[in-house]
Parts: sequence; C-alpha cells; structure tokens
Amino acid sequence: MQSETADTRGRHLRDLRISVTDRCNFRCTYCMPKEVYGRDFQFLERSQLLSFDEINRLVNIFKDHGVEKIRITGGEPLVRRQLERLIEMLAQDPSLDLTLTTNASLLKQKAQLLKDAGLKRVTVSLDSLDDTVFRAMNDVDFPVAKVLAGIEEADRVGLNPVKVNMVVKRGVNDSAAVEMARYFKGTGHIVRFIEFMDVGHTNGWQMEHVVPSRELVEQINQSFPIEPVEPNYTGEVAERWRYVDGSGEIGFISSVTQAFCRDCTRARLSAEGSVYTCLFATRGTDLRMLLRTGGTDEQISDVIGNLWRARTDNYSEVRTAETAKQRKVEMSYIGG
Ligand code: SF4
Repeated sequence: MQSETADTRGRHLRDLRISVTDRCNFRCTYCMPKEVYGRDFQFLERSQLLSFDEINRLVNIFKDHGVEKIRITGGEPLVRRQLERLIEMLAQDPSLDLTLTTNASLLKQKAQLLKDAGLKRVTVSLDSLDDTVFRAMNDVDFPVAKVLAGIEEADRVGLNPVKVNMVVKRGVNDSAAVEMARYFKGTGHIVRFIEFMDVGHTNGWQMEHVVPSRELVEQINQSFPIEPVEPNYTGEVAERWRYVDGSGEIGFISSVTQAFCRDCTRARLSAEGSVYTCLFATRGTDLRMLLRTGGTDEQISDVIGNLWRARTDNYSEVRTAETAKQRKVEMSYIGG
C-alpha cells in the first residue's frame, strides 16, 4: 500500500469516477446535444473500451493511492452490456463505496441485478417532473414515468437513499425546482439541484442560463423551510440542507457560483483509459497503452502518483467567459 497521495494543494485522491461507455440513449441538450452527437457521430469501438478486467486492475492500483469511493458513470453506464459483472468484480472489496449515476431509463430492469452484484447506491439524473419539459430536455422523447419507475425499483431492492440530480437551466426548467422538492420530500430520497455548467465545449453554455443555488434556496425555503447541514465528509460535492420539519434533506451543487475546488478529491477515468484530474480538463493521461503493452502495476502506479502529486486544478475558481470557450473534455466522455 503506497501512502495516500496528495496534490499540490494537499488534496488527497479519494474518489474515482469511471466512465464505462461514451454512449448514451438520451441526448440531453446540456450534455450530448443531438446536433453534435447525431447519427454519424463516431463513438468508441468496443475494442477501444477498457475491458472489465482492465478497469478492475486499475481500480486496485488507484486504491493504493487512497481511493475509497468508485462512481460508475458514462455516457449512460447501463447501456454497457453485463455491467453487473464489473460491479461484482469491484464489490469483492466490501470496504469500497460503490455507486453509479444513471438516467434510469434501464434501471427498472437492472436494479435487482446491480444490487445482487454488490452496488451500494444509485444517483439518478432527472431534470423535470413535467413530462413535456423532460422529454424536450432528454431530446429522445423519454417519459418521466419510466424514470420514476426506475427510482421506485431501486428503492424496493435497497439501492437507497436514491440521490436525484436536477440540472437547472434558466428559462428551461427552473420553475420546476420547488415541484421537484415537493415530490421527493419525505421519501428519504435526496434531490440535488445542480447549477448549469460549462462542461465540454458543445452545450452552448452562457452565464445567463445559470440559476445561482442561493436563488433556489430562497425559492424552496418559502414553500418548505430549510436550514444548512454540515457535510458528511471533506470533499462532499453537494452542499446539504434539511427541511426544518424533519422530512429529509436536499442538496445544491454550485460549481459556478460557489466553487468547491479547495476540497476536490476526484479523478476521472474515461472509457478508453485516460485519467483526467478535473471535470473541466482539456487533456487526459493515457493508461491503456501501458495496460496493453506489458506495463507493470508499479509503472502504472507511478504514472498515477506523479500525475496527482503535480495536480493544481481549480477551474471553478478561475472560470471566465473566456475559459468557458476552451476545448474542454466532454462530460459524456468522462462522466459528471
Ligand atoms: S472544477 Fe475541477 S478541481 Fe474544481 S471541483 Fe470541479 S473537478 Fe475539482
């Protein structure tokens, strides 16, 4: 076991997000706009994707650097066939906090399999309860009812509490935030409201489309009084608030107006085996070449250690209208 690896700001590597596919069955306008990810878009070939064995090998090396939480993402991870086999491999280590983020389109069918394989929790992306708005935002006409059925099934099999992520975009779904809070209040599930971010370089991000979290706090507080709660752990992404009446909590992920880079402990692994040390990175470090050309675990571990030790990332602290235009890696490629 190598000692815990810290970056130039003393942030430890604790949290690895693993994209298992760059494909998705939705075309959310703020992530994979249809105009870019159309019929002719060249997605990664199967042979370019890391195999489950390769991912498992890398996870063991990352654990040596202090990683204790794995989030499986995509694209949409549940479109990767037999994903439960990977979950099973990773769950051999019961101390690992194993979670997954999904659009829940396939969750009703897969929840039990994932739970049996050892998955601990799920986070579901749901941007509106209004069926018309939701269908427009996912841009593949997918109904809200099926997502809610997936959440219900996840809850039934014990993948709970379910976290529900709502990306709030001004003029698109911001008037639905209170309704979202109302719907999940008292259910034990936790809604997190996410400020619209300039991820990648294809979602047409503009500052005026951002609804600052404090605005939503005021809106929700008027209907349901809330108060702030201490974080569960250092580096927790969502700022926690609870209902004063004791009926649960909600969260706010405010990368644009309240940067949280100071405690960022996250690295991201793309589906083809490149590591990114920030969601807004412009380039990654390839590990697949080493995996497939006889590189030893030690060599791979040195690459990861050196990369993290040299890390200075703090994009959200330095974001400007200019930086927003940079050719950053797409979120669908490395997961949120
Ligand atoms: S902007 Fe980058 S460094 Fe800052 S919190 Fe997000 S991922 Fe971490």
